[in-house]
Amino acid sequence: EKFKEGLTKTRDSFTGRVNDLVSRYRKVDEEFFEELEEILIQADVGFDTVMTLIEELKREVQRKNIQDPNEVQSVISEKLVAIYEGGENASSSLNIQENALTVILFVGVNGVGKTTTIGKLGYQFKSEGKKVLMAAGDTFRAGAIEQLEVWGERVGVEVIKQAAGSDPAAVMFDAIQAAKSRNADILLCDTAGRLQNKVNLMKELEKVKRVIEREIPGAPHEVLLVLDATTGQNAMIQAKTFKEATDVTGIVLTKLDGTAKGGIVLAIRNELNIPVKFVGLGEKMDDLQTFNAEQYVYGLFA
Ligand code: GDP
Repeated sequence: EKFKEGLTKTRDSFTGRVNDLVSRYRKVDEEFFEELEEILIQADVGFDTVMTLIEELKREVQRKNIQDPNEVQSVISEKLVAIYEGGENASSSLNIQENALTVILFVGVNGVGKTTTIGKLGYQFKSEGKKVLMAAGDTFRAGAIEQLEVWGERVGVEVIKQAAGSDPAAVMFDAIQAAKSRNADILLCDTAGRLQNKVNLMKELEKVKRVIEREIPGAPHEVLLVLDATTGQNAMIQAKTFKEATDVTGIVLTKLDGTAKGGIVLAIRNELNIPVKFVGLGEKMDDLQTFNAEQYVYGLFA
């Protein structure tokens, strides 16, 4: 239900256009595919992904001798799910340690929804009965520490912090010691997202990661890159930048409720081979959903 509701904008434009296309054509021909291609590209599905999909659709249409455009619709859903789930790295599950501390590092540029996502995820873990701690690792952006504290209070999670401007690696060190001494299950780590100086930011992330690795072998257990779905191809560029600089293990795609171009989910998975682990569907505590390709695609066409 949440998925369906959150995808209203994308559904109205993308699915609406596919429905319109299907109703206008009497048979499936080259022109039909060209129009479909256009719709998919405009929904941010991504060029490579669209090409793959169209090719597979054509093959399937030929194999099954499909003439009626109405029949193509279900094949589109099937193929979209198959493309998403194909190959490796499709799983949305998190690498959670049993009976040990799990450290999750969040990276991404300012404004994408990092703090909000940490708050929402803290709420989810807490609801599962886990002991959660948050680390205020964005010591650069004015107000970032306070904003995380607001979320911490809202969901009842302690935030480990230092003064603004302090060394984020030192904050992480503190947070890990606190997590150990409090026997925490989950440590959610915020980081800075200033992209004005890319080299410095990536160096800072490196250092933060090194401290975590040194203190807890095998950590961080997840490095989640947060991307704003409404920024479309810009999100793809950010993903490429962060992927080059650090081992991103998963994507959180926020603000899917605010875009008609939800196809970006497919593009990211298909072109970068990074799984989308969560999607943000609003600003509230419970507006974060574990990503599931089938639910997503069928949510689009429902
Ligand atoms: P940060 O700079 O990356 O930490 O970004 P914030 O967490 O401060 O989020 C920036 C803005 O995006 C805030 O106004 C959030 O409420 C909003 N936001 C975050 N996630 C979502 C989402 O999934 N949907 C919507 N509609 N807004 C979101």
